[in-house]
Amino acid sequence: MRRLLGFLLRIACVTHILRFLNRRKITILMMHGVAADREDDGWQPLWPRLTPERLDLVLGQLAQRYRFISLDEAVDVMAGRKAPPRNGLVLTFDDGYRNNVTEALPVLQKHAAPAAFFIATGFVETGESYWIDRLDYALQQAPEDARLIEALGRTYDLRNLDREALAEGYRRLRLGVKNSVPDDAKMLAEFDRISSELEKAAGTSIRDVIDVDRYVAVATWEQLASVAADGVKIGSHTVNHCRLTGIDHGEVAKQLAESKQTLEQKIGKTCRHFCYPNGDHDPAVAALVDAAGYVSAVTTDNGLNRVGDNLMTLRRYPMPSGTDAFSNLLAVSGFAELPIIRSVLSRL
Ligand SMILES: [Zn+2]
Repeated sequence: MRRLLGFLLRIACVTHILRFLNRRKITILMMHGVAADREDDGWQPLWPRLTPERLDLVLGQLAQRYRFISLDEAVDVMAGRKAPPRNGLVLTFDDGYRNNVTEALPVLQKHAAPAAFFIATGFVETGESYWIDRLDYALQQAPEDARLIEALGRTYDLRNLDREALAEGYRRLRLGVKNSVPDDAKMLAEFDRISSELEKAAGTSIRDVIDVDRYVAVATWEQLASVAADGVKIGSHTVNHCRLTGIDHGEVAKQLAESKQTLEQKIGKTCRHFCYPNGDHDPAVAALVDAAGYVSAVTTDNGLNRVGDNLMTLRRYPMPSGTDAFSNLLAVSGFAELPIIRSVLSRL
């Protein structure tokens, strides 16, 4: 049934039609880490990421149908200051991984594609890993018997699993804790406790390898200043990567102002763009982002952006990661947001 539907969509030229209808809208794509899989790294994260080869392939597919534009240009278009290009597309990278500089950027340059990197400044300052990566590493290094994890009254038995099942267990644990604790400090404390116990059993932690790690190390100030000089837009992703709807507004304002100020000092350019950690936003938080002097803010809400839309809640799609051009183009076409498709999907 699925295959038949896919075939029908293909012959109906759905992506061509949608691209034509949406030609004045702006498409924004979101990525995180980009790193090649190499056997000699000692470990590979369970959290999925793009390889440079796949990034190259998908950018090549997009380049035939879209025009890569910078986030600055996209904002000018949406604010009505500039005529919309035909099918303008913006590439964004969250979390400031070092591999964005070392592995993604050469591929972007090959395609003459501008990009925006969103940096959580506290991590650049300390060189610490994100909790998500620390937990990933600890889970994989821990002996089997340490992988029976109690968290917030639930038990996660992650012992004796193959890699695929462990990845699924890690995903369940992550989302289980994250979704049941709206308070950010409490969520971090719980992940810290779980990771610490796993690290104790493993006798090692991500801190032992992060300086040379290609997957989870964050970029340095020197690297970020250098790519900014080459045209990459450096935006803020707060100081501590905290979920802004889970903390009080005074702290939100502090995170917005401090990260902006640090980026401007270290990079030497005005920090204009913001990215909500975990995509969490509400009208009050968006108003604080606006008041802090940012000209745009990207979310993780899926969809296309049109002229006149609220610049503080820009929609994005995850960068497609398959090999099939039609499926990749369909995923960013706005198809899933069509009212008729939405109503069909909601009934499934
Ligand atoms: Zn993030």
